[in-house]
Amino acid sequence: MRKLELHWKILIGMVLGIVFGFVMTQVDWGASFVSDWIQPLGTIFVKLLKLIAIPLIIASLVKGISDLKDISKFRNIGLRTIGIYIITTIVAITIGLVLVNIVQPGNGISEETVTKLTETYANSEGVTKKMNEAMKQKGSGPLQFLVDMVPDNALKAMSDNSLMLQVIFFTIFLGISMLLIGEKRAKPLKDFFDSLNDVVLKMVDLIMLSAPYAVFALLAGVVVSSSDPDLLIALLKYAATVVVGLLLMIVFYSIVVSVFTKKNPFWFLKQMSPAQLLAFSTSSSAATLPVTMERVEEHIGVDKEVSSFVLPVGATINMDGTSLYQGVAAVFIAQALGFDLTLADQLTIVLTALLASIGSAAVPGAGMVMLVIVLEAIGFPADKLAIGLALIFAVDRPLDMCRTVINVTGDATVSMIVAKSVGKLGKPKVKNWDDHLDEVK
Ligand code: ASP
Repeated sequence: MRKLELHWKILIGMVLGIVFGFVMTQVDWGASFVSDWIQPLGTIFVKLLKLIAIPLIIASLVKGISDLKDISKFRNIGLRTIGIYIITTIVAITIGLVLVNIVQPGNGISEETVTKLTETYANSEGVTKKMNEAMKQKGSGPLQFLVDMVPDNALKAMSDNSLMLQVIFFTIFLGISMLLIGEKRAKPLKDFFDSLNDVVLKMVDLIMLSAPYAVFALLAGVVVSSSDPDLLIALLKYAATVVVGLLLMIVFYSIVVSVFTKKNPFWFLKQMSPAQLLAFSTSSSAATLPVTMERVEEHIGVDKEVSSFVLPVGATINMDGTSLYQGVAAVFIAQALGFDLTLADQLTIVLTALLASIGSAAVPGAGMVMLVIVLEAIGFPADKLAIGLALIFAVDRPLDMCRTVINVTGDATVSMIVAKSVGKLGKPKVKNWDDHLDEVK
């Protein structure tokens, strides 16, 4: 029998996980059984992926920059990447805003539902936590993000996954300095990082062997901890607006891929599917990053000189799905609470959602924290912020799973366009986990 492809295995794991989760919600001890005995397997998997993220970024970025041999090429790639990221994010927010204004999901929601959602969530631990995080983010000046990008201790930056941009900054600095000392003198360091890069990519292959089981555990966990189904149904129109917007983004990426790279978009989506399915299961583009990098380089053929920069930067600052969601959610909340939005307010949403998605961390639920900042920018009354978040809290996790898929797909799309534009989109070169197994057996 032909070996089942990885994305099918992962998909089967996901479906079985959802079914198992539902079955477990039917028995009294089900939820605690899943969280005590099943979910930890998923958590271990996510930890393993995060474990290799920083070494992978460092090794591949050093390799990418030192292979360039010319700093001006790097500037070229850098500027293009940031420019295209901003464009795709603006497209995403615009799609979201157009849809939410057409569908108007907030206008149909009854007083009773608003009250029920407010009572259930406004003072809940989840909403309070998000509000507190948002307040922490808010108090900073306009250039704070630049200050935050520069580490004062390289090792400290490397020891914290949330400081990914600092690690990228340090590594680019290191890579450029390696170019400047000349090929011969940089060789030992380059060989070290090249080898480290190969090793970490092999670790990705090995970790991915457990992916089908891990997604089973992750999704069973999500199902047993999800909210009351009645509340989910009340928010169906809002959730559907976000999901339709996200699907339109897939259409947008497909068009972009076929126009700019002349590749078949279905082929692109198929190659990316394991990363997309993991993004869905983990709700974290940071945890998915190692797999995204492996797929884009080995299965799509983007040269490391491009992917090593575009993808880690994208995972932290380019979140098309998140920004689309923030646009829809902000207008939905305003509609539901009878808060009129002018055209100027909607334009403010475009700008703040762009900045907010850049500022959102690549971890579960981060988009909702930054939504607070979008709402404040349009003059939403501070005393109603918690009510606003309460309205959408029940469906936040499933929407987070969907928007993370788009975040990851967007990064991969941009890496292909940038690669094509600088002549670095080549042939895929797939490596399997057991390529050298015979030598070491
Ligand atoms: N979970 C998303 C990500 O990691 C961020 C968010 O929208 O909450 O990409």
